[in-house]
Amino acid sequence: MAMKILIAEDELVSRRLLEAFLRKWGYAVVAVAKGDDAWALLEADSPPRLAILDWMMPGIEGVEICRRVRERTERPYTYMILLTARGHKQSLLAGLQAGADDYLSKPFDAEELRARLQVGERILKVQDELIAARDALHFQVTHDVLTGVASRGAAFDFLTRELARARRENKLVGIALADVDHFKAINDKFGHMAGDLVLQEIARRMTKCTRPYDCVGRYGGEEFLMIFPASTDEGLLRLAERMRKAIEATPVRTLEGEIAITASFGVLVAHSSGQGDVNELLRLADAALYRAKHAGRNRVERADLIGEQQVDTLSSSNAAPVI
Ligand SMILES: [Mg+2]
Repeated sequence: MAMKILIAEDELVSRRLLEAFLRKWGYAVVAVAKGDDAWALLEADSPPRLAILDWMMPGIEGVEICRRVRERTERPYTYMILLTARGHKQSLLAGLQAGADDYLSKPFDAEELRARLQVGERILKVQDELIAARDALHFQVTHDVLTGVASRGAAFDFLTRELARARRENKLVGIALADVDHFKAINDKFGHMAGDLVLQEIARRMTKCTRPYDCVGRYGGEEFLMIFPASTDEGLLRLAERMRKAIEATPVRTLEGEIAITASFGVLVAHSSGQGDVNELLRLADAALYRAKHAGRNRVERADLIGEQQVDTLSSSNAAPVI
């Protein structure tokens, strides 16, 4: 796709000339005569990434457009060339200080303009590559490579953020720790490739049970941490039970054969009245998970909350034979 270039130039002859050259060189062109129109185009969706702006024109002047564009931080980079009849150094410096990337004196030399546009294109390309690399890196850091769910760090951040929000808005946050039952035995019997497949499948099944604003994260090894904003006790228990059943329902098919899988869950709902910090909550969820394991696995246990007299547990179906 041809790169789109904005020309903002009030002098008709100069504008037409620029337009003709740019089209000849294969660019897509949008040409306006007023600064206000140029600014509106740069503020719109999918704006031109490269702009040739006349310094002096009716409405917003080119140098002011440069300043405004640079004040925006959320938008993709716009490469701007200031067009000026002013030869003296002082105004050129002012233009560059305002945020222009380059300048061109009128009357312009076509080959010089072409070369400068190519520089601009090159810089935009490098910029795009850097952004893509940064985004890829961000994805890698925030996601678990094997299962594609949130990384441990990202899940932890999510929980910290949601707890703060819950306190602010007087809401509840559901937390679940899930652990694959007898995972070591699966690895020993079927190999690590099959073990990886089991983790991927379990992550997939649990994610399928969640809402878009929940977080499923790989907490470590065969353990998953899940966070459910605005969850109730009953809702959380129901959800965890649905996950448990989804995991138990069908064996995972691997090249080494079908593997029956189950998982145990420790869950708790953090109340806004202050249930302690993230570590304390995770410790409570972990204790509940431990009880689920101890009570025969393949079940959901609710955490023993501070100050609560009685611990409700949701007994699950009898633990299926696990390998
Ligand atoms: Mg002018």
